Amino acid sequence: MRVTLKQNNEILRKIEEISGENVFACYQCGKCSAGCPMVAEMDLLPNQIIRFLQIGAGEAVLEKRTIWLCASCFTCAARCPKGVNLAKLMEGVRATILRQSNSDQVAPPEMVKKPLPQIALISAMRKFTC
Ligand code: SF4
Ligand code: SF4
Repeated sequence: MRVTLKQNNEILRKIEEISGENVFACYQCGKCSAGCPMVAEMDLLPNQIIRFLQIGAGEAVLEKRTIWLCASCFTCAARCPKGVNLAKLMEGVRATILRQSNSDQVAPPEMVKKPLPQIALISAMRKFTC
């Protein structure tokens, strides 16, 4: 289904509202992705998540594995020279998806059932019990 620019802008507005972060503060230096412990497993780098949001491709972000693999470790937030808290943005993306769901019970994606680093599993448990 083709998503309009208006729908993508609405997705961005929700994510920024939930997270309290401004994606346009990011100038794409990549320090967040360089320090992320989960980056080898991700299908979009953390800084690319922000870039997609900046260019109005929020719908594509909602479909990525990256947001569920983020371990909420805050390394990216600590490294960012612009003070962007990417961990909060990741949580904002997850919350946007969960709020769109019509079901009270959201099934974890298949990838969560595969062997993962312990911190990712603990983080995922927290995400699915909100
Ligand atoms: S470290 Fe901050 S400014 Fe640099 S790419 Fe990541 S979020 Fe953007
Ligand atoms: S909070 Fe998520 S995106 Fe940021 S460094 Fe940790 S695992 Fe990577």
